[in-house]
Amino acid sequence: MIGDPIKHSISPQIHTAFAKSSGQNITYTKLRVRPADFAVKVKDLLGLGVKGMNITLPLKELAFAFANKLSPRAKFAGAVNTFKIEQGMVYGDNTDGIGLIRDITQNLKADITDKKILLLGAGGAAKGIIKPLLEEAPEVLHIANRTISKAIELKNQAKVYNNVSASGFAAVSDKFDFIINATSASVNHAVPPISAKVIDKNTVCYDLMYSKEPTSFLLWAQQHGAKITTDGLGMLVEKAAESFYLWRKIRPATQDLLLKLRK
Ligand code: NDP
Repeated sequence: MIGDPIKHSISPQIHTAFAKSSGQNITYTKLRVRPADFAVKVKDLLGLGVKGMNITLPLKELAFAFANKLSPRAKFAGAVNTFKIEQGMVYGDNTDGIGLIRDITQNLKADITDKKILLLGAGGAAKGIIKPLLEEAPEVLHIANRTISKAIELKNQAKVYNNVSASGFAAVSDKFDFIINATSASVNHAVPPISAKVIDKNTVCYDLMYSKEPTSFLLWAQQHGAKITTDGLGMLVEKAAESFYLWRKIRPATQDLLLKLRK
């Protein structure tokens, strides 16, 4: 796993647990890599014979440019979080979106199809999740962002799907079945300035950020009566499982690990 900062990453813990539970002999470690050193460090790692890498902030776009071949979901996202190395070729994938979808559909047992979804944010994480979300065929996907032009840009990128709209936060007042916070507002204990009218007693509120305590967005959602509120720990574990599958063709069990990490 490479990124900067990297100290906080629990990915080695997750992949070591996957390897143990699935009987795979792997070594997974984390390394701080600054953007300016990306190409040199990755070439060094390839020279050492690594079989795969996870790439996190702020290196995902650099990884996208570096890959020899890309998955369709990485192409759409313009960002890569997983490398698989085969015969010297670097295959780039993006498992963020499928991680979110698996957490919602399998862990939360919620269905996105025909539902109204509000996506807050239009940064890197939003770009990674929008295609997998749209492939679940929601009735509507509305993107709201602080910088409106970025929300519109993302909507235009998804124009083959005809159920996508975009705006700033102030223009949003309809009720939604799912509200997915893909902004980084919770990092600073802030909440995107949207009307509480978007929530009713059936709304699922999902914050991509995860932390020991409920995030500011999830506290806000609870105060306004959301049915389910959850953070992005499940997404983290599920996207790791998808990377593991790409490398080893084995899908590791995630439930026990997720429970353990929550504790
Ligand atoms: P980016 O920096 O690429 O994008 C940040 C987004 O948040 C932009 O849309 C930005 O709006 C918006 N934003 C920032 N501050 C505020 C604020 N105070 N109010 C409203 N909007 C705000 O970050 P990422 O997309 O990479 O990450 C977003 C979040 O997702 C982070 O919290 C990250 O930890 C989490 N994440 C979780 C993952 C998981 O596996 N659980 C995976 C990836 C990300 P603007 O465009 O106007 O600047």
